[in-house]
Amino acid sequence: MTLDPELLAILVCPNDRGDLDVREQEQVLVCRSCGYRYPIRDGIPVMLIDEAEKPPAGRKRR
Ligand SMILES: [Zn+2]
Repeated sequence: MTLDPELLAILVCPNDRGDLDVREQEQVLVCRSCGYRYPIRDGIPVMLIDEAEKPPAGRKRR
């Protein structure tokens, strides 16, 4: 499932408004600045902090 590029262009991280990277294999959006991972369900990004997977404290994801 491929996300609409126009949709992606307007999406930002709800935590810090950072840019998002798409990882299609994992079906997640990853924030470049805070590292939160937002699940993509049935092609729809779930942009909720409550649903996000947080990175381990004090560590940065690539
Ligand atoms: Zn973020």
